[in-house]
Amino acid sequence: MIDLHTHTSFSDGTDSPTELINKAHAAGLSAIALTDHDTVAGWDEAQAHLRPGMALVLGSEISCQTKDGISVHMLGLLFDRENEALAAMMARTRENRIGRMQKIIARLNTAGYEITMDDVEAQLSDGATLGRPHLADALIAAGYMKSREEVFAEVLHNNSPFYVAHYSPTPEDAIALIKGAGGVAVIAHAMASLRGRVISPTTFESYVRAGLDGIEVMHRDHTAENRSLLSEIAEEFGLVKTGSSDYHGNGKLNQLAEFHTAPKEFEKLEARSSEPRVIRR
Ligand code: AMP
Ligand code: ZN
Ligand code: FE
Ligand code: FE
Repeated sequence: MIDLHTHTSFSDGTDSPTELINKAHAAGLSAIALTDHDTVAGWDEAQAHLRPGMALVLGSEISCQTKDGISVHMLGLLFDRENEALAAMMARTRENRIGRMQKIIARLNTAGYEITMDDVEAQLSDGATLGRPHLADALIAAGYMKSREEVFAEVLHNNSPFYVAHYSPTPEDAIALIKGAGGVAVIAHAMASLRGRVISPTTFESYVRAGLDGIEVMHRDHTAENRSLLSEIAEEFGLVKTGSSDYHGNGKLNQLAEFHTAPKEFEKLEARSSEPRVIRR
């Protein structure tokens, strides 16, 4: 089985890369992609602990925003980590997430939630990309709520008055940067409307022109209708279709390999990077 979208404690997952690889091995995965938000920080550890017989796809889930303010997540896979333009863009996003967090905290303080940046940082592993889930963990630790799901439903969802966006490239710019770094671009959970506003199906044409390689069709947050529509769009444009768990350890209900990618689709994806970059042991 092949799972092409997972998170570790280098962003808002709860397993270390080593734990992730071990759990993937135990779950019988033949290939796994590491896709922490806006970073490559977990790559070395994952690679060092890869198990025999497994294939590792190194990547990152790039936070994007359309000109209309819609949040889009773009999986960049198999790119050259030395590419400066892509690395600079991710660094800018990570940096901007800090000021954005301070703004969200200030809004929560005004509403009576006593929470500080230190409380949030206490929930973050060294070198990890800061995100709303860490703030959720701080609110849980302070006794305000019981789970990340509850915090997102109550105060941290995208339409909440506490929501603040951070700098993000447009999806087209992110695709261009990923392709420029020799990688493969797959749009993640494109129709997951429970998270907030989603792009219209007509938008895909522009992403395809920018170089989009694939669509994450099978994902927990997609309805049956979403999946068939995305599958049709993928076929129309000759894009790779993936399925994945978006595993976050204990941080989300998503279980490793709950959705997976067909070996044929994985082959097509692998062939689309500028040079062979799947790591095999
Ligand atoms: P951010 O990148 O800081 O805007 O935070 C968005 C991240 O929060 C997403 O990538 C998910 O990992 C996580 N998230 C979104 N909704 C939920 C939810 N309902 N429960 C748990 N985590 C969530
Ligand atoms: Zn996440
Ligand atoms: Fe995502
Ligand atoms: Fe994700």
